[in-house]
Amino acid sequence: MKNAFTGFILCQVLEDEGFAVERGVGGIETAFIGTFGSGKPVIAILGEFDALSGLSQKRGATFYEPVIPNGNGHGCGHNLLGTAPLAAVVALKQYMEEHNMEGTIRYYGCPGEEGGSGKTYMARAGLFDDADAALTWHPESFSGIFSLTTLANYQVYYKFKGVASHAANSPHLGRSALDAVELMNVGANYLREHILPDARLHYSVINAGGISPNVVQREAEVLYL
Ligand SMILES: [Zn+2]
Repeated sequence: MKNAFTGFILCQVLEDEGFAVERGVGGIETAFIGTFGSGKPVIAILGEFDALSGLSQKRGATFYEPVIPNGNGHGCGHNLLGTAPLAAVVALKQYMEEHNMEGTIRYYGCPGEEGGSGKTYMARAGLFDDADAALTWHPESFSGIFSLTTLANYQVYYKFKGVASHAANSPHLGRSALDAVELMNVGANYLREHILPDARLHYSVINAGGISPNVVQREAEVLYL
């Protein structure tokens, strides 16, 4: 929902600035491309507008003080990842107009980047095929050029099904899905010793099967990254 709303505003600004906006590109409802100019080179500038769960935070507060309790919020400067590229394409457009330059500028609205890898699917759909260069950025404490590689990643949801029962009266009739999640995580933690030094394992239990300890959990879910 938030992705859609932010994307909607970005699209509006692009259109106001004279960009032709194509929404829902690559089969993703919230992905879009704003284009200005024509011909070569085609320069892609990437914008993101995703957030992380539970990071809602009031500006300037040095302790946890959410704007919306349990709401989403931006981590590591991602509040700038949608608007700064927008400013960049508008500035580029003005520069090209002033200097009568040929070329195409595209703002790529890449959704779901904190978990869904939107631009991966946009690339698979061929949306970058004719781009001569693609530029992205990240806020940092210094001004410079990143020269590094990052790890590829898989994101996998593991869903376990069990059998609910009263944990005090008839625990022997239950099969805890949460036990399965815990056993999997213990196994994964032992696995760390034996994987490549560069590899990472992260997980979060996104469904603990309820909050009542006296009910054997009939379902549980863990997300691995
Ligand atoms: Zn970041």
